[in-house]
Amino acid sequence: MKPVAILYDPVFKKHDLGAGHLECPGRLDAVMNALRELEDDPRYIQVDPEPASPEDISRIHSSKYVDWIRQNCEAGGGPYPALEGILVPETWEAASKAAGAVIQSCGMVWDKEWGGAFCAVRPPGHHALKSSAMGFCVFNNVAIGAKYLVDEKGAESVLIVDFDVHHGNGTQDAFYSDGKINYFSTHQFPHYPGTGTVHERGEGEGEGATLNAPLEAGCGDAEIMAAFEDKLVPWVAERQPEILLISAGFDAHVDDPLSDLRVTGEGYRRMAGILKQIAEDRCGGRWVITLEGGYNLQALGESARVFLEGMVG
Ligand SMILES: [Zn+2]
Repeated sequence: MKPVAILYDPVFKKHDLGAGHLECPGRLDAVMNALRELEDDPRYIQVDPEPASPEDISRIHSSKYVDWIRQNCEAGGGPYPALEGILVPETWEAASKAAGAVIQSCGMVWDKEWGGAFCAVRPPGHHALKSSAMGFCVFNNVAIGAKYLVDEKGAESVLIVDFDVHHGNGTQDAFYSDGKINYFSTHQFPHYPGTGTVHERGEGEGEGATLNAPLEAGCGDAEIMAAFEDKLVPWVAERQPEILLISAGFDAHVDDPLSDLRVTGEGYRRMAGILKQIAEDRCGGRWVITLEGGYNLQALGESARVFLEGMVG
């Protein structure tokens, strides 16, 4: 059995949006403390991620935006309303290593050097747009990894599953007319950022490669499992993915302050069961998880551990 890699770098905690911000450095302490018991488990390895190059990041973002982030961080940072917080000097290194962790994981998992990967990263990515940060996200880590697979590994069909409570509008936008990168999302609706209806299915070459499963406030484990079983599973059979990338936000948890969904740890365990089956049956066992949201620290740590253990099985 190839090892499952956990990618983490202390610089992720140096990215700090300001006192009292929900997307706080302590989120990664919560995740890494919860994963500490896996340190002596021979099925896992700890990996220090390499930063993504500006060219790698520019597969998804405009060079002008990438340069602007780097130059602002070098100049000491400052308020950035699109991020609902501030840039600090370390934001550049953190954001480029968050994207780099996903690229590295995609490459190693694609080549079957690793049996899977969990990227414990900040800042998160799925709202980030081509030329702007959005909603706590600087660079779209999962999108950068998916495009790397198509450009550098010759992937013909990549599957992104996003179960963050917020719709991943940045990821959907990036691939809306791209038939090779498939995007499935469960999210609360209506809710921030306002996108993610069932009518958004992609266009042109990407027609049918986007599938949204919006959930009303109050939905929980039963409803999210029904979306996975009744919508995701049959659609995956059509799309024939070669690798599964997971935008894992744990803010649909019942205790999360930014959500009215009611998913529990047991729900995340069951979701992992379905995604593990998809990875094994359809994707040659290839899967990469990247952290998105999750703002109740205890729920975040426990959910991340339960979900990862469910994927490893
Ligand atoms: Zn979220």
